[in-house]
Amino acid sequence: MSDNPVWSYSAVLMGSPVLLKLFSPNPALASRVFSLIKKYEDLFTVNRTPSQVMDINLAAGRHPVHVSRPVYELIKCARDASVWPNSTFNLAIGPLVKLWRIGFQGDRVPAASDIAARLRITRPQDVVLDDVAGTVFLAQPGMEIDLGAIAKGFIADRVRDDLHQQGVSEALINLGGNVQTLGTPHGAWTIGVKKPFAGADALVGTIDVVNKSVVTSGTYERYFEQDGKRWHHILDPRTGYPLENELDSVAVISSDSLDGDIWTTLLFGMGVEQGCAALRQREDIDAIFVTKNRDIILSSQRQFRFTQTDDSYRVTDCTA
Ligand code: AMP
Ligand code: MG
Repeated sequence: MSDNPVWSYSAVLMGSPVLLKLFSPNPALASRVFSLIKKYEDLFTVNRTPSQVMDINLAAGRHPVHVSRPVYELIKCARDASVWPNSTFNLAIGPLVKLWRIGFQGDRVPAASDIAARLRITRPQDVVLDDVAGTVFLAQPGMEIDLGAIAKGFIADRVRDDLHQQGVSEALINLGGNVQTLGTPHGAWTIGVKKPFAGADALVGTIDVVNKSVVTSGTYERYFEQDGKRWHHILDPRTGYPLENELDSVAVISSDSLDGDIWTTLLFGMGVEQGCAALRQREDIDAIFVTKNRDIILSSQRQFRFTQTDDSYRVTDCTA
């Protein structure tokens, strides 16, 4: 263990605190990284105009829209994940996200009839892609793409690639839920696993990784309470209501943060048992499930080491 000093640079981007850690002072590099993130945020956002994704949404039911390569590629990847059998990932979930307003002013449980009406315009198959023309067309009026579950993963990977090209061999970027790492300071990077519904700094454990991404998605991140229930921001595309199962959070460890971001949503939909089974087929993806019953379930420890720090939880693995 060496104790190299770390230089931390922070900004608020994509509605989250963003943190860059380097092993030598380099404010110019930090601004380069923050500008890169801003550039992608401006392409992908659906919370304000103009953005390329807003252009697609505003043309829903009317005409295809030509978009830049990164936007096209990310939408294609999100659509692929959305049409997998039994996928709970859905890039066309936008009309429901806007209806619920979770994490924004005015959140409340919508009328069942409004949810049913919006469900009809969330079919991922109605996102029509043309590889040759590089266009995206939403076939039904009112459709809206929402890349909120995947954009940070894509951007974290672009930051990693850019740092690498700039000759940086050890760094960490945290986009608020999406951490991507380069290199091996002191043998590994250590990343906290948050304790659900506890203070901002409370952890259930830590994950040690080398050259890996760690993406965490939790019901505690954004939610409101009504009728004695918590309503969180990960929606079930089959029902239009927040996904309901035994989970409080899932962390995914993978090489690319894009995969991590997709898999947190997929695993949220599967729950522990099905999730463990699915991960047995995917050696490149590891996960840590944290349940409402205070169980921590590790898929395997191929790509990370987990250290428990809160003994009110019970740690098991997918074979248990
Ligand atoms: P994440 O923080 O990566 O779990 O993404 C959560 C965000 O993704 C939400 O705030 C919505 O914008 C969007 N979202 C919610 N439910 C889904 C879903 N089932 N599939 C894809 N995106 C979703
Ligand atoms: Mg995600």
